[in-house]
Amino acid sequence: MSTPALKIYNTLTRTKEEFRPIDPAHVRMYVCGPTVYDYAHIGNARPLIVFDVLFRLLRHLYGAEHVAYVRNITDVDDKINARAFERGISIRELTDETNKVFQQDVKALGCLEPTVQPRATEHIAQMVAIIERLIASGHAYAADGHVLFDVPSMPNYGRLSRRSLDEMMAGARVDVAPYKRGDMDFVLWKPSKENEPGWDSPWGRGRPGWHIECSAMSWAHLGETFDIHGGGIDLVFPHHENEIAQSCCAFGRDVMANYWMHNGFLQVEGEKMSKSLGNFVTIHELLHTDKFGGRKWPGEVLRLAMLRTHYRQPIDWTVKALEEAELSLRKWGAEIGAVELDGEGFGSGFGSPDGSGYGGGFTGVDTVMDALADDLNTPLALTILHAVENKRELDVSLKLLGIDVQSYADWVQIEKSRSFDEGAIDMLIRARLAARASKNWAESDRIRDELAAAGIALKDNKDGTTTWEVKR
Ligand code: AMP
Ligand code: ZN
Repeated sequence: MSTPALKIYNTLTRTKEEFRPIDPAHVRMYVCGPTVYDYAHIGNARPLIVFDVLFRLLRHLYGAEHVAYVRNITDVDDKINARAFERGISIRELTDETNKVFQQDVKALGCLEPTVQPRATEHIAQMVAIIERLIASGHAYAADGHVLFDVPSMPNYGRLSRRSLDEMMAGARVDVAPYKRGDMDFVLWKPSKENEPGWDSPWGRGRPGWHIECSAMSWAHLGETFDIHGGGIDLVFPHHENEIAQSCCAFGRDVMANYWMHNGFLQVEGEKMSKSLGNFVTIHELLHTDKFGGRKWPGEVLRLAMLRTHYRQPIDWTVKALEEAELSLRKWGAEIGAVELDGEGFGSGFGSPDGSGYGGGFTGVDTVMDALADDLNTPLALTILHAVENKRELDVSLKLLGIDVQSYADWVQIEKSRSFDEGAIDMLIRARLAARASKNWAESDRIRDELAAAGIALKDNKDGTTTWEVKR
């Protein structure tokens, strides 16, 4: 098979460009990760899934060990501080709790673990180092316990978002503060009150601004300049513009990352899904409750529904789209053999195509690979897959998209066993306890096996009771 050239749309140049890594033996991508103060919503899932597809593709094209993917965890921020304060716990306790759910959510969505998931609070020293460089080179100033980036000191500020300073002033909600020299200057460091989280710094006890976190973590894990920087379209301005300003001015470089990629919004009735609008549904709710469309949705369906739209287009989030995605999964499952729920699973025998080596090993459909290499054209890839008849090619190609039909089939199986009547389970448990009391071990084992076959695991407790759970 010939390896297609990867082309990606670069927000920096507003054109689709051939991807040329700085070092093909060390391809580097940074994606802005979640602010972990609450459950992530399905809009937040979009960059997770989109950049996971890109990660898989890069691993395939360059070899798994040659690709570094860094997705940070923002674990200090005013929303986090406020929430932790409300609950009377430390920010670490809050963010550990939220991050745990987040990690479960992304796993259910079929995302590979990034190479590194740095936490902002573990990179304060690097943030301070960058701020010191910025002050030393005349790009930042300390005032009143704050340190601010001096926007007019950077002649090509605004290059990514293509706004002039005047436009930015008109468009942005600019905080006017007495310690600011210019209205557009943004915070690198700010003072913390006694009861707020803070770190000692040359400017007193304080905490970082949001933008500096990503400059520090990308520097720490990928270096001064790297290949791809990603996130949602809302991050272009001011977040990514400010990251570029900080990193380029601190390191004396023209570029922070060569390719900037942004996913479009996931919308509800034409509006961006967001916490602040209150029109959101969390990944956790979709996976584990029946709040959306009266039923639970497995991660594979959510992922497929997302990939049916090209990543730069907006998506309208509807139950109908989920139903359609599920129909496709069922069809493919039946074709591959995974959804024949008779215990004869099929898909697992096929190799994983996400990192089998430099330029080779892909035994899926070449035109699917071509579609993905063309700026991640997932809708075209999926259309092609609908016409593929060869089971093996279908399975390998779906796995390149991170869609695991077997895992969907397992979910269906588990849901079936969940609907196993709870009264019947209790009755069997009581019958088993009675069998054990009369030392009828054969009968006790038979009942255990019968429940296990339905996906129900028993746990015998120290107090003599038996409880059950559904196995995954
Ligand atoms: P946040 O936690 O708000 O910083 O967002 C984390 C990531 O999710 C960022 O890359 C955002 O751009 C992205 N994001 C937030 N809301 C949406 C949405 N409705 N659609 C697509 N991406 C979003
Ligand atoms: Zn960022």
